[in-house]
Amino acid sequence: MEYIESARDDEGTGGCPFCAIVDGHDEGRMLARTERAFVTLAKYPYNPGHLLVLPVRHTGDLEDLSSEEDSEIARLLKRCLRALREEEEPHGFNVGLNLGRVAGAGIPDHLHWHVVPRWGGDTNFMPVVGRTKVLPQVLLDTRQLLADAWVKG
Ligand SMILES: [Zn+2]
Repeated sequence: MEYIESARDDEGTGGCPFCAIVDGHDEGRMLARTERAFVTLAKYPYNPGHLLVLPVRHTGDLEDLSSEEDSEIARLLKRCLRALREEEEPHGFNVGLNLGRVAGAGIPDHLHWHVVPRWGGDTNFMPVVGRTKVLPQVLLDTRQLLADAWVKG
């Protein structure tokens, strides 16, 4: 409830949970931030270490991003791979963007790139609709591991 109440105060973003992270209402999920982009832990991770990379600006329109936003997002995506490789030693990654609700975007109005570490035999496909899985690693532990790797990288 506390989260819902504070999100409601955000003018113009319709209580967007990603903007709430930028505004400091959801502490513990922000992993890294540059001027125009940031990295957060997915609230409903598909796998341990599932990260999201987003523009700071509230937009769902990929073509609307400036070249500065493009490059900061691209740089953060690469940093995510490096941090995850360091801490989680995955066998591979899914990196991608769902545009629109029909394509699986839970929050279509604020672009977010998924970075999902994958291990052989974890699952055969990503549970796009089911969303929630029982995970061996607690979210804040994951954040701490990755924050440590971030500083190193
Ligand atoms: Zn937003």
